[in-house]
Amino acid sequence: MTNAQLILKKGREKPILQQHPWLFSGAIQRIEGNPKAGEIVAVHGSNGRFLALAYYNPHSQIRGRVLSWQETAIDTNFWRIQLQRAIQYRKKLQLEPNTTAYRLVNAESDGLPGLVVDKYGDYLVIQCLTLGIDQRKQLITELLVELLQPKGIIERSDMAVRKKEGLTAVSGLLYGQEPPEQYTILENGHQFSIQLLAGHKTGLYLDQRDNRALVCQPQHTQDAEILNVFAYTGGFGVYAAPYAKSILHVDSSIPALEQAEYNTNLNANRPQDDYLAGDAFEILRDFREEGKQYDLVVLDPPKFAHSQRDITRATRGYKDLNLQALHLIREGGLLATFSCSGLISADLFQKVLFGACIDAGRTVQIMHHLHQANDHPTSLTVPESAYLKGFLCRVW
Ligand code: SAH
Repeated sequence: MTNAQLILKKGREKPILQQHPWLFSGAIQRIEGNPKAGEIVAVHGSNGRFLALAYYNPHSQIRGRVLSWQETAIDTNFWRIQLQRAIQYRKKLQLEPNTTAYRLVNAESDGLPGLVVDKYGDYLVIQCLTLGIDQRKQLITELLVELLQPKGIIERSDMAVRKKEGLTAVSGLLYGQEPPEQYTILENGHQFSIQLLAGHKTGLYLDQRDNRALVCQPQHTQDAEILNVFAYTGGFGVYAAPYAKSILHVDSSIPALEQAEYNTNLNANRPQDDYLAGDAFEILRDFREEGKQYDLVVLDPPKFAHSQRDITRATRGYKDLNLQALHLIREGGLLATFSCSGLISADLFQKVLFGACIDAGRTVQIMHHLHQANDHPTSLTVPESAYLKGFLCRVW
């Protein structure tokens, strides 16, 4: 057990009482026992009542992240049980054998704040987003080997958020063998080749799996002309490849588009497809001037809002993109539009789409409200963990 204590200010206990696992610096009255960075601290209310156990980081605005709401030992067995639970949850989803890449541990939503573990076939990729996790990555690696016997474990802790924790970017092999440079996994039976040491995130945007399947089913894509904006390594286009008349993939990253072409060819022979590198905002505007028309437009941009301050600018960005896209859709065609900003709620995103619809003078029917796949569970007490939202719409 820990001797260090973190005592909250009177009136600032509510988020913790409501199981939100973040302890912001402004809510802390005092810290006793001089805890070191990464150490476990007991969180107490202003009246001295025990509330939670958290790991501590004096270098972050989020001074602590809760690991347990009970008084318990945060020892090897604690981590083993939490990991086992997360793994068990995925086993029950029965994603294999058609899907061999999926998320095993989704940080706060799996009771393991700061830790992401994705499975890509025989390999695991981990991200340590916080100092508390970074300090324990040796133990976590050992437990993952014990529980899953992977061929290799790769660390991809190269995200900007680590700066807020006082950490620098690291990536490399933590255990076992390096994966081949191009490693092929299956997603709903579609092949994707992944560069586990070089791609974005942990390799693939796994959270979009269900949406790719729903949006790109044959009823929506048969003989369709598709504009796949923010294509990354093919994503939605790869799913549509068996059916579509033509697919134009747009992305600012040339290596991503090269991989999109590679992935498309793994699944189908499609010399008719195009891969256009550039800024999506400019390209959509140009296409509108040229009067281009598509049967399906997919808009899957990166995160626009990284903090509260970005929200207004981000909503303008989403509005602009959706407005341009709506002009490019044939009568009765489809728009699949997404936001992966945790700070933009589904309600707000819907309002933005409403604004774009009015300005474009189109009629828009929402067919499906979309969200992240269920291997990326959300925590009921952490609303911002429902970061991915989208709509599949019919446009007239
Ligand atoms: N739809 C993809 C994931 C998209 S991730 C899938 O299903 O896998 C977001 C992508 O947007 C990244 O590949 C990034 O390179 C690209 N991107 C970011 N800013 C961009 C811009 N201004 N114009 C075009 N592409 C951009």
